[in-house]
Amino acid sequence: MLLADDDYYKLLGVKRDASAAEIKKAYRKLARELHPDRNPGDKKAEDRLKIINAAYDVLADPQKKATYDQFGTSDFQGVRGDDIGAMFDQLFRQFGFQTGRRSQRAQGGAPQGESLRVSISLTFEEAFFGIDKEVALRRKIRCSTCSGTGAAPGTSPIRCSSCNGRGQVTREMGGFMRLSQTCPTCRGAGERIDSPCSKCRGAGTETTRMELKVPIPAGIENGVVQRIRGAGNAGPRGGPPGDLIVVFQVEPHDVFIRKGLHSFMDMEIPFSVATLGGEVEVPTMWGTSKLRIKKGTVGGSILRMKGKGVHADDGRKGDHLIQVEIHVPKKVSKAQERLLKKLEQEKI
Ligand SMILES: [Zn+2]
Ligand SMILES: [Zn+2]
Repeated sequence: MLLADDDYYKLLGVKRDASAAEIKKAYRKLARELHPDRNPGDKKAEDRLKIINAAYDVLADPQKKATYDQFGTSDFQGVRGDDIGAMFDQLFRQFGFQTGRRSQRAQGGAPQGESLRVSISLTFEEAFFGIDKEVALRRKIRCSTCSGTGAAPGTSPIRCSSCNGRGQVTREMGGFMRLSQTCPTCRGAGERIDSPCSKCRGAGTETTRMELKVPIPAGIENGVVQRIRGAGNAGPRGGPPGDLIVVFQVEPHDVFIRKGLHSFMDMEIPFSVATLGGEVEVPTMWGTSKLRIKKGTVGGSILRMKGKGVHADDGRKGDHLIQVEIHVPKKVSKAQERLLKKLEQEKI
């Protein structure tokens, strides 16, 4: 497997600023050398070829390459839209929403309800670990008094005689020309209400306020939009409901950023630790952890702490990635200065 601290460019034996053609050429050469036909039974060559293939896979794809150049990894996978979709569908059905209904206008029937938009704001921590979030929603539902017909109990809407209940009338325009238009008498409803329901005044809907407890899975990303079919406003006079559009907004964090299931940070390490190797304490979303620094670590290296990213509900785990900066002291004491001067004379 490729690791974040593997340098893909180094693996292919090219410079960081190598052109696409140079990368391809280097890859082809290595692929030929490591080909199983040339190295029968050589497990090491086989493994190396796999790594080379994976590295080339990233560097040959401009988008993956750009992400790798920026973050030192390209395997970003967050919580998938369809995961949340299925979960939401279930949740809203549980609350009595009729989700999944096709948004269509029934023939000669009442128009569809409006779509609703609700924004769920999460802190970085809430999005990282997942949380149950209370969401208040004002939503039109079918009027409970008239069951959405708009007609007073005991009465029914009367079929519109102008359009025969179709909601549309056809006008002859002379010759073979015919023009369909919305019925002007019933405005497309196909029916007329003589004694409107007193509760909804003939609208067929009433407004309710509901509090939903929405379980937010770990790993939601900022800007994710989820459309839940049929969970919007009920349509007037029994028309089909609109959709509910949920937008997630995640606050940024002071130290960490997130992409997919991974978290990232920049960290300064002392020049001496970078040179000699050692251990540093690294803050992660799971608390402080120790990280080994290899001898001769250069600035810009990206180190990976496996499993310290988001733990998704489906068992996938992201990593915590640290881009190392080497701390160069701006002020040094007399004693330190003497030591550094000595070091300089040693010409390391
Ligand atoms: Zn009513
Ligand atoms: Zn009509």
